[in-house]
Amino acid sequence: MQEKFDIVVVGAGLVGLTAALACAKKGAKVCILDQKLPNIKGDMRASAISASSFVLLKNLDVIDSVVGNIQAIDKIFISDSRVGRKNKFNLKFQNLNHAKYKGYMIDNSILKNALLKTVNKSHDITVKAPVKILKTSTNRGKVKINLENNCIIEAFLLVAADGKDSRLRKSADISVRFTHYKQSAIVTTIGHEFAHNGSAHQFFFPGGPLALLPLTKNRSSIVWSDSSLASGATMSLNDSDFIDELSYRINGLLGKIKLLGPRQIFPLNLQMANRYTAKRLVLVGDAAHSIHPIAGQGLNLGLRDAAALADNVALSIRKGIDLGSDVIQEYEKWRSFDNNKLGITTDILNRLFSNKNRSIRFIRRLGLNGVNHSELLKTFFIEEASGLRGELPTLMIEK
Ligand SMILES: Cc1cc2nc3c(=O)[nH]c(=O)nc-3n(C[C@H](O)[C@H](O)[C@H](O)COP(=O)(O)OP(=O)(O)OC[C@H]3O[C@@H](n4cnc5c(N)ncnc54)[C@H](O)[C@@H]3O)c2cc1C
Repeated sequence: MQEKFDIVVVGAGLVGLTAALACAKKGAKVCILDQKLPNIKGDMRASAISASSFVLLKNLDVIDSVVGNIQAIDKIFISDSRVGRKNKFNLKFQNLNHAKYKGYMIDNSILKNALLKTVNKSHDITVKAPVKILKTSTNRGKVKINLENNCIIEAFLLVAADGKDSRLRKSADISVRFTHYKQSAIVTTIGHEFAHNGSAHQFFFPGGPLALLPLTKNRSSIVWSDSSLASGATMSLNDSDFIDELSYRINGLLGKIKLLGPRQIFPLNLQMANRYTAKRLVLVGDAAHSIHPIAGQGLNLGLRDAAALADNVALSIRKGIDLGSDVIQEYEKWRSFDNNKLGITTDILNRLFSNKNRSIRFIRRLGLNGVNHSELLKTFFIEEASGLRGELPTLMIEK
């Protein structure tokens, strides 16, 4: 059996689903392939969604189905901490209510469910999963994908949204720059006695940052980064000892806490692809870049890839240009600068904060306190985190 589409997206993760919706919105017929049945359970992570990502999800008709499950971040408190010391916040962002800058927290499972619902309603998107890709090849202005079930799919453009171990990236011989942080992040969700009041907290400990991020229904998401050795030991604690250790670290900030789900552990690294395109292929999301969660921006970058790609697709359709032609270079130019900039920033932040050196501690505290006293710098950082700096893809602009 042979089927034809404009675009094939490989990977039905958060970025692949968004890329499919964004390209379909701009007029393309899209097929999504995944090796697994899209599964909304099993990911304990929650994501910080920046203001510009929120607009994208709204423009793609995804937000309506998550109303009530999306928590606004009203305040951010940052502490350069030592374990066992009283909570002292060196940097505070307290006026995040402005619609332009508003960021949100959402459980990954809820966001994925909402994306899948919108994808399933679309007449321009076909999902095939689980499927096994045997081979991809380019021939006579098309990319051909051979599936294990004897189905052959043809399209003008292949989009690799197959995550940080991307097979498509490897088979296109695209190399990566890789830094192993020798850190891992433990992720889970907790319920707590005191209300979080929309506050996000980040404690910078010498082993790595511990983030406490507000979710709906008086819950918070924990992203606890530490050396891989220490994280392994923390993972091996039973639930009650884990909760005691966490309470001690956050100094009882939210009163009594309890686990609301399993704990998951993620090894952390920086991985940046050296190219984002090959013949009739573009990389999006973690297939192109995987960064430290210190600033909660990895998914936001992937969503911006998806929206930028959609602009590229729209331009090709409008001008009658082949979607997979050299026009994809424009996507690469646009996205690689933005992604590399954030990759480098998160790398520097992690090295600066996951550090016991006394002089570095002194300098970074001066820096945090300095930013805290400058409204101009605070606005600069908030605009960066909101994804509002630089050229915005059209789907990220409020209608
Ligand atoms: C601890 C932690 C916390 C984070 N917190 C945040 C945050 O607060 N905010 C934020 O913006 N980002 C955050 N991130 C980053 C974010 O989670 C990722 O950037 C994002 O999930 C990547 O999505 P993706 O769709 O690109 O890849 P993935 O989620 O990895 O999806 C890849 C998909 O491709 C499929 N696939 C893989 N190989 C094949 C194949 N050969 N054939 C077919 N299908 C295939 C997989 O089954 C999967 O469905 C965090 C990351 C970590 C580790």
